Amino acid sequence: MTFPDLPASLAQALAERDYDSPTPVQLAVLEQEAVGRDLVVSAQTGSGKTVAFGLAFSEQLLDDNGRVPHAGAPLALVIAPTRELALQVSRELAWLYQKAGARIATCVGGMNPSQERRTLKSGATIVVGTPGRLRDHLERGALDLSQLAVAVLDEADEMLDMGFREELEGILDATPETRRTLLFSATMPRQIEALAKRYQRNSLRIATTGTERGHGDIAYQAVTVSPSEIENAVVNLLRFHDAETAILFCATRDKVRHMHAMLQERGFAAVALSGEHSQSERNQALQALRDKRARVCVATDVASRGLDLPNLSLVVHVEIPRDAEILQHRSGRTGRAGKKGTAVIVVPFPRRRRVESMLRSAKINAAWINAPDREAILEKDRERLLEALLQPVEVTDADRELADKLLAQRTPQEIAALLVQAHRAKMPEPEELLVNSPEKHREAQKERHRPGFEDTVWFRMDIGRRQNADPRWVLPLLCRRGHITRNEVGAIRIGPVQTHFQIPRAIADKFADALVRTAGDDENGGDVKIELSPEAPRDAARPSHRRGPPQAGRGGPRHAKKHRKGNSANAEPRGDKPAFKGKKRKFKPKPNKGA
Ligand code: AMP
Repeated sequence: MTFPDLPASLAQALAERDYDSPTPVQLAVLEQEAVGRDLVVSAQTGSGKTVAFGLAFSEQLLDDNGRVPHAGAPLALVIAPTRELALQVSRELAWLYQKAGARIATCVGGMNPSQERRTLKSGATIVVGTPGRLRDHLERGALDLSQLAVAVLDEADEMLDMGFREELEGILDATPETRRTLLFSATMPRQIEALAKRYQRNSLRIATTGTERGHGDIAYQAVTVSPSEIENAVVNLLRFHDAETAILFCATRDKVRHMHAMLQERGFAAVALSGEHSQSERNQALQALRDKRARVCVATDVASRGLDLPNLSLVVHVEIPRDAEILQHRSGRTGRAGKKGTAVIVVPFPRRRRVESMLRSAKINAAWINAPDREAILEKDRERLLEALLQPVEVTDADRELADKLLAQRTPQEIAALLVQAHRAKMPEPEELLVNSPEKHREAQKERHRPGFEDTVWFRMDIGRRQNADPRWVLPLLCRRGHITRNEVGAIRIGPVQTHFQIPRAIADKFADALVRTAGDDENGGDVKIELSPEAPRDAARPSHRRGPPQAGRGGPRHAKKHRKGNSANAEPRGDKPAFKGKKRKFKPKPNKGA
């Protein structure tokens, strides 16, 4: 299917971007029966709706030569709920109308209003903005809507939800009755009907939701997990899919904050979007996602509205959406513009029925699967590593010289192993998941309470993943420094720059004394600062994980980049009492030399 006849300036703009076939919503707005009419279009972000209304209003905007005439006042107005969406719309219309010579003014909160006033005065033909800012300009006389030929309300449902009804009415009332009105909305609640009734005449309904190209390209998966394993399952999903950009949906801002902190702690480049973030924090987060400094976005439904991340290929519903419509709306962030996407619903065992019925009502066929386990992730890693490292390389003279030097001192196998380790070091460690059934979950919880570790104290040391901390050498170090045996160390939690571990309260004093005495003993790790921890680590309450056999290339302080949390009889998480509140003495280790 190709685009129907379009003005040359627009056809060229589309061709330059290789947009050779219209999306369903684009096709629908260009149909003969839609030409010139008011429209109510139900289309979601990702359906190509911006280009759709851009093409639809070309009729009101372009002269016979396919150019935008010089007008005394704006001819087209697009109102969008959020700053990001308005900027996005503005960017899309900019390339679409560049050859036609349109001048676009973007008016959004958080930008310099006097700069916007100047652009409006200098003859903008298309105005894109958010409701509040547009009404401001209108009231101050900077925005003249007397010549307006077409008004577009983008994500109209969202604007009404956000309480912008008054602003929208104020703006529309300032436009000529003869204008064309295009209403775009993901959902069609009653308020939208009322708006349509008041501001449109003989409007045409177009519904492309569900048939749009984005929808068909999403593979849905439902992943059942034990309720206490949700975070680990999310970590593993992110590691397994290794998406260029992924979005995680949570129901509340508290949950967003928590997930974000948890992911950062485990080494993911993640940003958060929720109601508690300021506009500038939001901008920074979005910029980080766009320029790939961050790959994971944790968001609430509201905060993620209007977000368009072109390379988003994974959506994870960390918390089950309220209803099928939200499920689809969240999932529709991926699988856009012809690309494939995956939407994963994390389903705690007790919520399975609820999710099944939600999927049925949305007519979504989801694959019910287990969360990817450690082995599956490591296998994927191997595939991806081979693919990445077997890409063709361009070798410069300087590189060749360096390669020769390396080859003179190391075997090719050693060099290849170093390369693999360097790549692998960038990847956060996958988690060990409990066997995926409620019974096994209960068993595992019981197992956490090992005799002797009912009452423990958290200590911490000033080395973490970044210093290659690993239980395999951390444990012997603790034994040497604290004069204890491996069996007297409880849970070990390795964070990015610190490691927490538990010692039974009964021997905590003895341990602390020994630490002071061995603090200067460099041969026995005396330069590592070890002290009582004022609090338990954030992930103290996580269920236990079994440690597998050591892996080639991962053992030892030098090469082991990440530890494997767990319980070789001596690294088992036990009890979760926070800090030692001993009355008798205050433990102060000798200051860390040189650190
Ligand atoms: P939207 O629904 O407006 O947020 O558009 C989603 C993405 O699809 C944008 O990046 C558009 O540039 C892109 N897009 C729009 N129309 C087409 C098309 N006909 N073919 C391919 N991509 C398109």
